[in-house]
Amino acid sequence: MRKSLLIIATCAIALSCDNDPIATTDNNASALTSTSKTAKTTCGFDAYLEDTAAKDPELEARLSAQEAFISNYTAKLEAQEKSGKQNLPLLTIPVVINHLSQSGQRISQAVVDAQMVRLNEVFSGVYASRASSRPSGLPSNARQFGAGNTRIRFTLQAINHRNGSEVIDFFTSNLQFPAVALEEFGGITPTSLGSVINIYVISNLTDATGIRGSGSIPGQATGDQAIFDNIYIDELFFGGDLAPEAVSEGLTLAHEVGHHLNLFHLPGRATENCRFDDAVRDTPNTSKRYSGTVRTGASTTSCGSQDMYWNIMSSVDDSHRFLFTNGQRNRMRATLAGARSGLVQ
Ligand SMILES: [Zn+2]
Repeated sequence: MRKSLLIIATCAIALSCDNDPIATTDNNASALTSTSKTAKTTCGFDAYLEDTAAKDPELEARLSAQEAFISNYTAKLEAQEKSGKQNLPLLTIPVVINHLSQSGQRISQAVVDAQMVRLNEVFSGVYASRASSRPSGLPSNARQFGAGNTRIRFTLQAINHRNGSEVIDFFTSNLQFPAVALEEFGGITPTSLGSVINIYVISNLTDATGIRGSGSIPGQATGDQAIFDNIYIDELFFGGDLAPEAVSEGLTLAHEVGHHLNLFHLPGRATENCRFDDAVRDTPNTSKRYSGTVRTGASTTSCGSQDMYWNIMSSVDDSHRFLFTNGQRNRMRATLAGARSGLVQ
């Protein structure tokens, strides 16, 4: 118990500091409108990463080492693509759903199945092919970026359930997110850490913290923090077409899996600065963060180019984002050949 308490104390995360992305990009606010109470809420990834960076002096060195491997690996994939000889093996990754409910009601198999279908539709590019024809404010040139078939697929291994009122209350009152992965606090211990993606579906996450989901990149949660190297998502945004929240089409999970496989948000680790990037070659530099919905005709450019707010790694409502680029695919596949190779079945 003593050790667990120490772990929790060292990873308290001020998730609430990332709950108003519109305010971080003043020149962007006019492009956005809110469609519901939850439209301004987004992802806790940036706050979690910078919190880790502030507490762990070795983080940047670990991330740099990973970047060297990724750069080398993606260069090979790009060379194959140019030569027309690219052959991407299908990579299959098992996932476990850990449901922490405040009501005690179990998540239904139908909801989990719908989410798994949507996750695989996004990663196969099928979702983009279908959704890119929507007249929802997408620029006409958005489709040129293609479907971004990652050749990565996900299979459901198990669903765990626990009535987690105590741990959820603890988390929401203390903003200590990883508590949900600790059995002694009423959470659920992750399954086969490093060989499976553990997805925590949690009641009340958005209402309490203003975020829809969060997670870590590889190399972030290591050592005694490794138990927290999972994905966390509010149950309102989980379930594909069956997700309870009206603005959700189940893309929050695809976005958080993107982080788990080493994708950053499009501005990288700094907004309002065109020199920072997400380390992906075919996503344009941007200094803006987008959320909510995007009004037709509003300004959506920065750093001298059209912003790719319609990317899955953007934080707009699901109706306005629909694809990973080929560059993001390469970065995720490099991660599955390197830091997260244990996930591939
Ligand atoms: Zn995110």
